[in-house]
Formats: sequence, structure tokens, C-alpha cells
Amino acid sequence: MTTSRTSPVRLALIGRPVSHSLSPRIFAELGRLLGRRVSYKALRVEDAALEAVVRGFRGAGFNVTIPHKRAVMPLLDALTPEARAIGAVNAVRFSERGLIGHNTDAAGFLDALPRKAKDAVVFGAGGAARAVAYALGESGARSVRIVARSPGKARSLALEFGKLFPRTRFSAGAPMRADVWVNATPLGMKGFPRKSPAPRKLACGFAFDLVYGGKTPFLKDASAAGIGSADGLDMLVCQALRGWEFWRGALGARRARLRDALLEKLRCL
Ligand code: NAP
Repeated sequence: MTTSRTSPVRLALIGRPVSHSLSPRIFAELGRLLGRRVSYKALRVEDAALEAVVRGFRGAGFNVTIPHKRAVMPLLDALTPEARAIGAVNAVRFSERGLIGHNTDAAGFLDALPRKAKDAVVFGAGGAARAVAYALGESGARSVRIVARSPGKARSLALEFGKLFPRTRFSAGAPMRADVWVNATPLGMKGFPRKSPAPRKLACGFAFDLVYGGKTPFLKDASAAGIGSADGLDMLVCQALRGWEFWRGALGARRARLRDALLEKLRCL
């Protein structure tokens, strides 16, 4: 597709570190696929500079990553319900109402989940686990069990989301049999222990790992047991597309085609 001569859509990523991020590649490729000029800059931002960078940014919007996903919240004028409930912002848009903070991980997770989960187990109780728990509550799951190394965090997450989604039974404790088990910890990721947060013998119909960039021990255990699985790359692409929609408007039927094309490109890297 030819790229239009109109002014570029200005986007950025704010975080630390940002050099490893796949987002600049995703948005460059997305611009090419849409025939739009896209400028997506990865900005390494120290804590002390966050406010000045946020207030000084001029463009359609920006992504936020570690360690600023919570710290950016008080600097914004409004939050979407997802961002407020999850307690983390990964996308910010400029609008007439000022800076709006959003979280695209929940929608990205649901987009990438190949089948609806009735009963789910989520390993971890951090930001990603909260996004997954939100997505499961929002999609009407029957039960969600939170399993985390800090039992207090697991319990308070289950309590909080149980109130938010009264039709879903949220609980904390040991893993239990479910349709889907989700790794929402960094275990298996480069720089973290090469181990699984789950028992070796998985008791689920599908294993979903938010970690991407190689087969994790969690996914290896799923393969060994003949259980279907997905890594986090598809979710990464899906949350990026949701980010584009937040900044630029709905993609409609194009979203599925763009997702496939972006995934194919990233899998070849
Ligand atoms: P986070 O807020 O730091 O939370 C990490 C969670 O994992 C916490 O519950 C933490 O427990 C737990 N944990 C950390 N190290 C552990 C260990 N050695 N053993 C057991 N549990 C451990 O991080 P996050 O933002 O939720 O991200 C989690 C993972 O999801 C990362 O790998 C991230 O890259 C990935 N992610 C992927 C996508 C995607 O699109 N694919 C999107 C978002 C996040 P404590 O609270 O006790 O420390």
C-alpha cells in the first residue's frame, strides 16, 4: 500500500527501559499496512522527567510502559473505566477533554484468547493479572481463581474484582481445574527465572502465557501434555491495535486482517 502524503500520526512510548520494545516495529508496520505515515518514538523517561514529558508531548497519543503505568495516572484529566479498575494506564490520548488514560491489555487479552473462558486460573497479581481478571469479569466468566506468591495481593485482587463483577466468582488460593490457565507473571521471560508459576501437571483445556519471545516452561508443560496454548505475542499485537483504535477510531473488519498481517511479520523477526 502507498503511504499518504498527509502529516504523520505522532505517537510515542514512554518508559524505562524501552530499547527492547516491539511497539515501534508494530506501529511502523501498522502504518505501512494502513497507508498512513506514523511516527512512533520510544522515549526512555526517568521518573523525575515524567510530568514534563507527558505535559510537553504533542501528538495523537502515547503508550506507557514500566515503570510509569501507575505514576502517570495523577497527571491525566480522565480515565476510562478499564484504566480505573485495573489501576494502570498503558495508552494516553489527547482530546478536547484533556489527557485521557486507558488500558488496552484487557481488550487485547480477550481478542487473543481463542475461546471464551468459563472458569479460569490466573497466575500473578500484578498489573497484567489485573487486566486479565478485568477482561474475564467483563466477558462474564463464571469463576476466576487468582494464584500468586503474595497471598495477600491475590486475596485483595479477588475481593476487589468480586465486588466489581458480582456475577463472576473471584477467589484466591491454589490452582484448580479450569478451561484456561493464564501466566500473568514474568516467569519464563528473559531476565527472570526459567520456571513455570504453575504445577507441572496442568489441569486446564488451554494455557495462555502473556510472556512472549520464546517457549516458556509453562508453555512447554502444556505442549508435553498435549494442551493447546498461546504465547503473549498475539495479545501484544491485539492490545496495540486497540491502542490505535483508542487514538484514531475503530478499525472494524480491518482489525482481524491487520492482526494476522502483523503477527506474521513479528513471527518472522
Ligand atoms: P508486575 O506488575 O510486576 O506483576 C508481576 C506479578 O508476577 C506479581 O504478582 C509478582 O508477584 C509476580 N512474580 C514476579 N516474579 C515472580 C516469581 N519469581 N515467582 C512468582 N511470581 C512472581 O508485572 P506485569 O506488568 O503484571 O507483567 C507480568 C508479565 O506480563 C510480564 O512478563 C509482562 O511482559 C507480561 N505482559 C505481557 C503483555 C502482552 O501484551 N503480551 C501485556 C502486559 C504484560 P509479587 O507481587 O509478589 O512481586
